[in-house]
Amino acid sequence: MKCKRCKAKAVVSLPSHNTAFCKDCYPLFFTRQVETAIRRQKMFTHEERILVALSGGKDSLALMLELSLQGYDVTGLHIDLGIPRSSEKARAKVEAFCELHGLKLQVLEVANEGLPIPAIKKHINRPVCSVCGKIKRHYFNRIAREGGYDALATGHNLDDEAARLFANTLRWDAGYLSDQGPTLPAEEGFVRKVKPLYRLSEFETANYAFLKGIEIHSDPCPYSGGASFTNHKHLLGELEYKSPGSKFSFYEGFLKKGRPAFAMLNKEEGDKVSPCGECGSPTSLDLCGVCRIRTALKEKMAEAE
Ligand SMILES: [Zn+2]
Ligand SMILES: [Zn+2]
Repeated sequence: MKCKRCKAKAVVSLPSHNTAFCKDCYPLFFTRQVETAIRRQKMFTHEERILVALSGGKDSLALMLELSLQGYDVTGLHIDLGIPRSSEKARAKVEAFCELHGLKLQVLEVANEGLPIPAIKKHINRPVCSVCGKIKRHYFNRIAREGGYDALATGHNLDDEAARLFANTLRWDAGYLSDQGPTLPAEEGFVRKVKPLYRLSEFETANYAFLKGIEIHSDPCPYSGGASFTNHKHLLGELEYKSPGSKFSFYEGFLKKGRPAFAMLNKEEGDKVSPCGECGSPTSLDLCGVCRIRTALKEKMAEAE
């Protein structure tokens, strides 16, 4: 197969776009998709400061590199979860990557915040992945807000977004369906959240990371049973194989038709939000969820001694 752009030997075939590219032209395709996402979904401008959540995986590092190459003012944020044999590896990949490309990086250690994940797993009687996810989202938002960033960018790709949409559609989760998408505007203590890779599949992002020589952290988390929405991704993958392009049209159709319809249905007021008494993060209670976890952990650990 030949590259659609320059007729050299193609290395990446993209049935969903009915095209193929060589190793030099493929990153241009990737760049165009990210540019289109930023423009159409009004994500951010070159005058704004963007905080990019960096886990060390292919998606977040590909996103960081691409935004910096497009001339955006980006700063990476890595959250060190303090999980033995896993977190130090992820952090080392992120630090080496930012050093190599001359990119700004901020690292937050949750253990220094009174929230070491191994202790939470041991003492808090809730699924550790959901608590961990909650803590990460909390600090992404809090650091972006306190640092005066205009937007928080995450590396969610089309597979992530389509699978999540699929799962929520199966449950007809109206709350989610009215308020989810590649750009979520800032509101009451929450910074603007954007997903510039939402038009690109996991495969397409992995190819970019590979062709750009990005060294990624790919070990699964030792605490998790696997990636989220695995079954939904698998089913959508079969559909995509038989009918290329269906994953994107499912998600794009939701953005154009589904979300506005659900937004009209879901007009009723949510819980009143005010700043957490401890940390100032938006919450509907006196203390935010993460400050409550910190307090509970302190008590449990004191009891255990
Ligand atoms: Zn080419
Ligand atoms: Zn709080």
